[in-house]
Amino acid sequence: MKKDQLLKQFDELEKKLYAYGHAMMLLNWDGSTFAPTKSVEGRSIASSVLAGEQHKILTRKETGDLINELRQTDDLDEVSQAKVNEFYRDYKKLTCIPEKEVMEFSKLRAQSESIWVEAKKNNDFASFVPSLEKLIDFTKRFAKYYDSEEKPYNTLLDDYQPGLKMETVDAFFAEVEKSLVPLNKFVASSQRLNEAKKIKERINAKGFAKEGQIKLIDRLFELQGLDPDRCKIAQSAHPFTSGANSNDIRYTVTYHEDNLAAGIFAAFHEGGHAMYQLNINGEYDYSSIYTGASMTMHESQSRIYENNMGRSKAFNPYIYEAVKKEFPKQMSDVSADDFYLYSNYSSPSFIRVEADELTYSLHVMIRYQIERMIFEENLPVAELPAIWNKKYEEYLGITPPTDTLGVLQDVHWSFGLFGYFATYSLGTAYSAQLEATMKEHIDYDGALKKGNLTEITKWLKENVQQYGRLYTDDKILNIATGKSFDPSYYTKYLNDKYREIYK
Ligand code: ZN
Repeated sequence: MKKDQLLKQFDELEKKLYAYGHAMMLLNWDGSTFAPTKSVEGRSIASSVLAGEQHKILTRKETGDLINELRQTDDLDEVSQAKVNEFYRDYKKLTCIPEKEVMEFSKLRAQSESIWVEAKKNNDFASFVPSLEKLIDFTKRFAKYYDSEEKPYNTLLDDYQPGLKMETVDAFFAEVEKSLVPLNKFVASSQRLNEAKKIKERINAKGFAKEGQIKLIDRLFELQGLDPDRCKIAQSAHPFTSGANSNDIRYTVTYHEDNLAAGIFAAFHEGGHAMYQLNINGEYDYSSIYTGASMTMHESQSRIYENNMGRSKAFNPYIYEAVKKEFPKQMSDVSADDFYLYSNYSSPSFIRVEADELTYSLHVMIRYQIERMIFEENLPVAELPAIWNKKYEEYLGITPPTDTLGVLQDVHWSFGLFGYFATYSLGTAYSAQLEATMKEHIDYDGALKKGNLTEITKWLKENVQQYGRLYTDDKILNIATGKSFDPSYYTKYLNDKYREIYK
């Protein structure tokens, strides 16, 4: 068949799959934000029918034939080639596993999640052990089906960042351990920390009503420079971002009346994910490359707005002013300096999702090391709590009093998600490298001081966001910063910042 004809068929196939994906995204969005509580059953029937149809299209013989024919066509343009490669990755991941095992695994996942919920509630790790062992066995086998030559944990890392290998992650966490464990100890023993703690408690105790926070979040949306004609916010139990295409992005926020910072910075974080999706080249809409280059790159774009900009000395006063406008009474005795310290409070804690900018990567490092031992050294599952607690003591100087506050805290393993955690920290580290490069090319600090992020977003769009999944992380980092990933930017950024604040 002629190349043009093949590409036309491929385009139709991608649009069809997109249509199912778009519908499922909307159902999920609706369920998390607005739908009445009793709508769960009807929606899950609709979702599973749609997912089943999508799966049928993806795995039918014609799809395999088309994608194989395209893979053998050698004069494809760059964009078509990237779409075909990406589509093939998904196709291979789905079809390399015997259907019987796919179904067993999905049943196991559904059961394991509720077992995990109970185990976490009752601080009973032992009851979760049999499920976790089975999930790990399945995952190891699936990794081998996909690539029998590759080390299983490398195949798992590749799910979340194409091409990522342990070598890179090991080198990254070696740098984190060397540099951030001592930095965390320095901050934890600093006199200034008591002051920061008092300010934090004083501000949170004032109470921030939801009505005021809604207006505040709208103001942050404007400050961030998001496009209201293409992006919307709603409220949900946990913040997340969904993108159907470059003209339809939504994200959610949560309002904590007793923890203002949590809501503000989560909104800036999700706003960063939304910005990435809005700025991907619109020509990639409805295709497999209309997505972030990886989970890692996505996280770099959320963290750069949340931390590098939102919590920076130069830009933070604009957030302070916005808070003051909505909550004049609560903020009457809070100065901009107090608010900056409040925004950058750092103290070792047990729960990853509540961790601050500095300690966050230590939480992730512990999970990475443990997962690596599970998949590459066959660490017995029963030993996880002891290893977990030992690592928290070693790296963060605290020992979880229960498994609920320790090894059972994250939902990922109960879904059979392994290899994901590293992307959270690697992405944060990318943002430091991107920020350092921006400082050489544009008046980055000047833009933050003016409270106008337009020029910064323009740079990120041109150098990172527009590419979507056209290129790998490594290629994008080389385009944007002239070099491959270098973790020292990240540890330097944190050392400079936190040694200054907590001196
Ligand atoms: Zn994120």
